[in-house]
Amino acid sequence: MKLSHSFVKTLRNSPKDESSRNADLLIRAGYIHKEMAGVYDYLPLGLKVLENIKNIIRTELNKIGGEELLMSSLQNPELWKKTDRWDDQKVDIWFKTELNAGGEVGLAPTHEEPLTNLLKDYVSSYKDLPLAIYQFQTKFRNELRAKSGIMRTREFLMKDLYSFHTSEEDLDAYYSKVETAYKNIYDLLGIGDETYETFASGGVFSKYSHEYQTFLPVGEDTVFYNQDRSVVLNDEVLNDEVLNDLNVKREELSSTRAAEVGNIFKLKFKYSEPLGLKFIDNENSQKTVYMGCYGIGVSRVMGVIVEKFADDKGLVWPENIAPYKYYLIGIGEEGTKIAENLHNQNPNLFIYDDRNLRPGEKFADSELLGIPYRIVISDKTLAENKVEITSRLTGKKELLTLEEFTAKL
Ligand code: ATP
Ligand code: MG
Repeated sequence: MKLSHSFVKTLRNSPKDESSRNADLLIRAGYIHKEMAGVYDYLPLGLKVLENIKNIIRTELNKIGGEELLMSSLQNPELWKKTDRWDDQKVDIWFKTELNAGGEVGLAPTHEEPLTNLLKDYVSSYKDLPLAIYQFQTKFRNELRAKSGIMRTREFLMKDLYSFHTSEEDLDAYYSKVETAYKNIYDLLGIGDETYETFASGGVFSKYSHEYQTFLPVGEDTVFYNQDRSVVLNDEVLNDEVLNDLNVKREELSSTRAAEVGNIFKLKFKYSEPLGLKFIDNENSQKTVYMGCYGIGVSRVMGVIVEKFADDKGLVWPENIAPYKYYLIGIGEEGTKIAENLHNQNPNLFIYDDRNLRPGEKFADSELLGIPYRIVISDKTLAENKVEITSRLTGKKELLTLEEFTAKL
């Protein structure tokens, strides 16, 4: 990618109406654009980051048998009335609108109802189960507050996986597989060491549901943890009964702020019963399908990664999330010529800063953009037939010969 060709420009100053650090940095670095409070556009670099996050999640879910689809955002009220989730008194974050043809539709805040209903056309026998179905999709929620940048928005990207089973044992076994997949996903996303599975309220037939919380000073939630972090729980379940269950004492627990980056639920019959998703078992009797659901806030995760790694110079992306691996700067006639060539041979690896700017300005932008490695090719480095590589994370500089560097690519 050649920076001179991009419509996106970095900004020197912070946007005035942005109170969160993640959105402030992402806007200044040209990854996102703000439409209004709680609503952001993803510009070319921001989109690449989202796609990288999605691909990490997709690879792990496919390993546990996930099948990807894409459902509609517009929702039929009739389905949501069956589960009593259409009423604004019951679910207070709906965006709803009138159809010109008469009647109402809603913009999906989640997809349990339509997917459960959809499967009635495809599931009739125990032979059709189990199933694990997921999507990456824009969800709409009329959130009261939107102050955490891309970590809480009114339109956001979620990965939602739903599983369907003939028995509680099969649901339990799949739930464990998802726990393993989630651990891998958060590790690969670079936030694994500070992301914990927590005990949360909202279990349907089990006492708890589980959330995935990343310890983060600007997180909206409060969680409690013991010294070795083998027990982490949400504040809403901190009571004597739960402490007893988990065999910890209140005074052994410390609290910290955290951001919820995902959650998993055993739903059992919560949606399949009212929506009538049934199957015929091997003894020819009709049974209700067991369900689980498993979310990850894809765009929130991007905000969490920004908050975790950014420093006073700007963004810092882990290598497998970064939109490009290298930020390339050529200085002087020969340096520019070689940089240009290098970029042309590997356009997907490099952001090539070919703008007519002073090197100092390019260095500052390479830091603001958080690209893992800055490559400088100048008359000075070429005098030794070398290129200079600087790690954004550690600031460590290294000189490699051109041949060594191209071999690395
Ligand atoms: P929260 O408690 O943060 O409001 P939730 O419990 O309502 O979230 P779910 O409905 O289970 O969340 O959504 C799955 C995931 O989507 C959450 O774990 C979170 O990471 C993400 N998410 C939820 N609401 C938002 C939002 N308004 N903006 C961005 N991401 C969100
Ligand atoms: Mg929650």
